[in-house]
Amino acid sequence: MTFASIRFLRAVVLSILLFFIWILPGFSQKQVAITMDDIEQRNAYLPEDFKATMLDSIVVLNTPVMIFISEGRLFADDSIKRFRNIERWISNPLVSVGSHTYSHLYYSDTTFSFYAQDIERGLAVSMPIAQKYNKTIRSFRFPFNCLGKDSLQHHQMRNYFEAKGITIAPFSVESEDWAYSAVYEYYLSKGDTVNASVTGRRYVNQTLAMFHYLEKVCQLFYNRNVKQIYLCHDNLINEHYLPQIIRELRNEGYETISFDEALKDPVYQSSDQYYKKWGISWIYRYNYQQLKELFKEEPNDLIYTEYEALMNEKNKQ
Ligand SMILES: [Zn+2]
Repeated sequence: MTFASIRFLRAVVLSILLFFIWILPGFSQKQVAITMDDIEQRNAYLPEDFKATMLDSIVVLNTPVMIFISEGRLFADDSIKRFRNIERWISNPLVSVGSHTYSHLYYSDTTFSFYAQDIERGLAVSMPIAQKYNKTIRSFRFPFNCLGKDSLQHHQMRNYFEAKGITIAPFSVESEDWAYSAVYEYYLSKGDTVNASVTGRRYVNQTLAMFHYLEKVCQLFYNRNVKQIYLCHDNLINEHYLPQIIRELRNEGYETISFDEALKDPVYQSSDQYYKKWGISWIYRYNYQQLKELFKEEPNDLIYTEYEALMNEKNKQ
């Protein structure tokens, strides 16, 4: 073999390698940012030492997480411990911080000015803590993802946040984790570990089914994988089952990314045309007229029916 042909061969091998490196991101094109609402809102099943064990799981999984704090809750019982915990969350390098109103208000049930005051009251608490750890709050998630009862309320709040330089936090996938958690905690309180673990497994399956469904909707509409944003809450079922969900998503080729990274997907720059009060995925909000039929066909595990029955039962007691 001549020197020239060896060089040629080397060049070919190098081009093949470069080609594979170039296409490698293609293997992990599926990306998701984990976002968690209602941090430190939990009452049930808090450990003795009151430590945020959910955070320990996040650290083990080494996944970035965006947390949305409803600041008023920090002043509830065991306030000192709640504040200590929130500092544990915020000081962790994997954690980004957002706000979620001081009083966890339903926007459509109140007025713009009352709601805005509540946000300011919350930011006055969370912003200094964020700044203490060289972080800032640039994102706000509406409780119940209710952005207003009509276009006036929607626009008032959009203008308000635009003036403050704060982004309204979107999500693409959610799976009613709060309803699963209520049913799960009910079974645990009765000592029924069998039904509790059935509920846990149902939650994992439903979450994966929702990911698969939204992936298909995005493929159909955008012809590509969209950076997904998963919305869940700080609750017991996530403490026990979120690690499993993340592991299963990773097995399916998902990479966990930061919320800011997910927001770089151009889809999240689309204009929101949805002026109702319901908390639906932003993928539908951007294209509601075209996608509303697909929204109605989302996988449904009927957990809400069980949740409602449980709540009715509790109210009777
Ligand atoms: Zn919430």
